[in-house]
Amino acid sequence: MKCPFCSFEESKVVDSRSTEDYTAIRRRRECLKCSKRYTTYEKIEDIPIQVIKKDSTRENFDKNKIVSGLIKACQKRPVSINQIEEIAGEVEKILSNQMIQEVKSDFIGELVMERLKKSMRFPM
Ligand SMILES: [Zn+2]
Repeated sequence: MKCPFCSFEESKVVDSRSTEDYTAIRRRRECLKCSKRYTTYEKIEDIPIQVIKKDSTRENFDKNKIVSGLIKACQKRPVSINQIEEIAGEVEKILSNQMIQEVKSDFIGELVMERLKKSMRFPM
């Protein structure tokens, strides 16, 4: 990491702590040349969830696919685009909270259907 003041490449870490939501580590660094301090953030790179389809092929999880699938499926149902986006967002959150790397497409379908039924029962 180059010092933003003098571009020297070596520094020492003087403090490191998690950000409030624990998704990153914030480090205070001190340049070994000019002694000025600056901050860096260390983050986990997002790992895309792999969806295992019925024919055993895999593809990256894509929330937009849920949205477009639902729009097609709900053309004649009282479900708004907002609700569809919400359903897709919830499913994405559930999967990323489980910290899984692979999921069967059937399971995604179940999660979607559960939520779809709920929003048809309580239309907005
Ligand atoms: Zn420096």
